[in-house]
Amino acid sequence: MELPLKLQNVVDQFTKLPGVGGKTALRQSMMLTKWNARELQFFASSLNELSTLKQCAECLILCDHEFCTLCTNVKRQEKKLLCVVENMTDCLAIENSGQFHGLYHVLGGVLNPLLGIGPDELNIQKLVNRVAEKFTEVILAINPSVEGDATCSYIKELLPTSIDVRRIGFGVPIGGHLEYLDAMTISKAFENSRSM
Ligand SMILES: [Zn+2]
Repeated sequence: MELPLKLQNVVDQFTKLPGVGGKTALRQSMMLTKWNARELQFFASSLNELSTLKQCAECLILCDHEFCTLCTNVKRQEKKLLCVVENMTDCLAIENSGQFHGLYHVLGGVLNPLLGIGPDELNIQKLVNRVAEKFTEVILAINPSVEGDATCSYIKELLPTSIDVRRIGFGVPIGGHLEYLDAMTISKAFENSRSM
């Protein structure tokens, strides 16, 4: 049986999301048919607003204004400590652990020549500039993998030797990913950071 077009369109949108198959998409869409017009409007306008989401001009975290709330926090600025992460979800996981009180820099991934991801595809030059201007210590919270290790070495080479560059210590297997670790494990990883 064919779905009404208006419903099918919504199902099609949900199936674009990671981890959402046809059945889940249909169940979620059916749930939406029970919402009233006002609720649906707010849902739709919330999605629409995503198109105006900004990236912080400093750390590249997603935010509502030109700078994120972390970069404008004077207490965090004073620490002169920068944590480099692959993406914003890693940053959120670290924030949830409550272990880190400096600022962040989102790389946007790791070096991966096979996928054509070189230094120009990542926010590496911006990182070097920021460190030169404002930081004395850098902690690399890059996930452990061959590409992650190569990215850390590459960054270390680019930064002045006067900068203390550390990498968080993973008590987790290679392939472990920050965003899936619990707060305690992340805290331990920061405690076990070591100089590169
Ligand atoms: Zn920021």
